[in-house]
Amino acid sequence: MTCVICKRGEVRAKKVEAEIKIGNDHLLVTVDAEACTQCGEAYYSADIMRRLEQVREDFVRKAITPPAVGRVYQLT
Ligand SMILES: [Zn+2]
Repeated sequence: MTCVICKRGEVRAKKVEAEIKIGNDHLLVTVDAEACTQCGEAYYSADIMRRLEQVREDFVRKAITPPAVGRVYQLT
């Protein structure tokens, strides 16, 4: 499949780090997806989209409490 974003790259199966934003928090989830070899655009299947939605819900109601791996800094 050819990438619909850059129209040059080839889309191949790859493990990618999906990012879910919840307020100021960013949740990184490693999932099997497909990514463009040129621009890196990731494509998620319907199953993965559902899984990410589930992870977001679990995180919001604190059913899961993954460790923090970084901090967000803001200059005002
Ligand atoms: Zn692309």
